[in-house]
Amino acid sequence: MDDIRETIDRLLPDLIALRHDLHAHPELGFEEHHTAEQVAEWLSRHGIDVRTGVAKTGVVGTLRGEQGNGDCVAFRADMDALPIEEQNDLPYRSRHAGKMHACGHDGHTAMLLGAAAVLAQYRHRLRGTVRFFFQPSEESVSGAKAMLEEGVLDEMRPQWMVALHGRPGMPLGSVGIRAGAIMASADTFDIWLMGRGGHAALPHLSDDPVLAGAHLVQALHGIVGRETSPGNPMVLSVTQFHAGNAYNVLPQQVHLAGTVRCLKEEMRVKASERIREMAEATARLWHVQSRFEWHSGTPVTVNAPSVAELIAQVAEEAFGREQLVWLEEPLMGAEDFAYFAQAVPAAMFFLGLGDVADLHTACFDFPDAALPFGVEMFVRLAVEQLAV
Ligand SMILES: [Zn+2]
Ligand SMILES: [Zn+2]
Repeated sequence: MDDIRETIDRLLPDLIALRHDLHAHPELGFEEHHTAEQVAEWLSRHGIDVRTGVAKTGVVGTLRGEQGNGDCVAFRADMDALPIEEQNDLPYRSRHAGKMHACGHDGHTAMLLGAAAVLAQYRHRLRGTVRFFFQPSEESVSGAKAMLEEGVLDEMRPQWMVALHGRPGMPLGSVGIRAGAIMASADTFDIWLMGRGGHAALPHLSDDPVLAGAHLVQALHGIVGRETSPGNPMVLSVTQFHAGNAYNVLPQQVHLAGTVRCLKEEMRVKASERIREMAEATARLWHVQSRFEWHSGTPVTVNAPSVAELIAQVAEEAFGREQLVWLEEPLMGAEDFAYFAQAVPAAMFFLGLGDVADLHTACFDFPDAALPFGVEMFVRLAVEQLAV
C-alpha cells in the first residue's frame, strides 16, 4: 500500500468540501442531526456498514476486511460544536447563529471519514475489522459515556482504540503523544454559604456570608499551593462568586462554584474531601451555614503505553522523526475519550495545526492543510494492525 498518500490526495477535494459543509452547519451536543446524516451518507457511499441513532445522534461504522476474521481496531471522532458566534469571514462561515466549530470537531469528523473511505478501498488487503465511532456531545463530556452505555464496545472488543485532537501552535502535521495521563480529569463543585444577612451599616448584628466566601476562596487556593506535591499537578479554579444585589444590604447567601483538574484518581477524592472540610470550617468560623456539592466529571485520559508507542512508530514512519513530539506534560484540559480509554487499551494524540487561532475562540477554523495528516495517521494505524 505504497499509494496511501496518492489515494488521500485524490480524496482531498471531496473531504475539504465535506469539512466546509460541516463547518457551515455546526450543531451542539446531542443535536448533531445534519452532521450524523452527512457521516452516515458518506460511510454508506463507501460501502461501510452504518448504525445511526447511537446515543441519540452518534454514528458507528463497521468495515470488515476481505481477508477473513482477525483483530478489531477502533477510532473515535467527535462531532459537536460550541455555543460561540463565529467571527471568521469565510464562504463556509457558520450559518447557525451563536454556534460554531471552534474546537475543530468538523476537522476531526472529516479526517475519520477520509480514513474510512481510504481503508474501504484497501479492504481486500485487510484481515479483521475497523470500527469508526462518531461521537455526539464531547464538549459536555457526556457523549462517550452515552455510547458506552449503549454497549458499542461489547459487540466487538477492539484491540485498541485511537482518537486525535487538533492542537494550534504545534507545527502543521506534527504528532504529539505521551504514555500515561495525557488529559486531566474535570470535576466541578458548588458551595453555598448562608447567613442572616442584614443592614450593611450594622454588620455586627448580622452574619456576613460575603466575608466567609472571600475567606473560603483564599483557603481553597491553599490546597494546590500547600497540600499537593509540586510534582503531581492539580488545578483548582473558583470560577463563580455570586452574592447580593444592593449597596446597603448584606446578603443572606453566597454561591461559589469552580472546577478541579487532576492527573491521578486519588487526587480527585482528596480534593473533594478538602474542599468540603474548608467550606464547613470557614462557615463555622463566621457563624454561617454551608452546603457543598461535588459533581464527579470526566476521569483522567490515560494513554496505554503500547498504543502510544504504536502511534509514535507510525507517525515517525509516515512523517519523519522531526514531526514526532513526545510530550513532557499532559494538558490540564479534559476529554471524554477518557471513558473509552478506561474500557479498552487506547490512546489519544495531538495533531499539529500550525499557527492558527486558539481552540474555543471565535476566530478558530480547522486548517484544511492538516486534514491529510490526520487521515494518513488513522489509515496507517489500521493498516499496521490489519494488513496482510
Ligand atoms: Zn473543545
Ligand atoms: Zn475538542
